[in-house]
Amino acid sequence: MPIYEYRHKQKPNKCKDPFEVFAAIKDDTIADCPLCGQPVERILSTFTGKANIFADSNLKEKGFTKLVKNGSGGYRKV
Ligand SMILES: [Zn+2]
Repeated sequence: MPIYEYRHKQKPNKCKDPFEVFAAIKDDTIADCPLCGQPVERILSTFTGKANIFADSNLKEKGFTKLVKNGSGGYRKV
C-alpha cells in the first residue's frame, strides 16, 4: 500500500510535520488534516516522488503554468 506524505499549509500547527498517510487508491488525496482539520498538501516522498513531479504545486514552484482545457473549447490557467 502506498504511503503519501503531507504537510500543513499553515504554521504553526499542533501536529507532526510532515505526516504520512496510507492510501488505498492512488488518487485518494486528502485536503484537510484528519487530526486538526487544517488544510494540508501532499509533498514528495521516496515512494511517490516521480509521480508528483508534475503536480500543480510543483509546476508552480518551478515557474510553469499549467493550462487545463475547459468545456467551451478554451483553456484556463490553474
Ligand atoms: Zn493537523
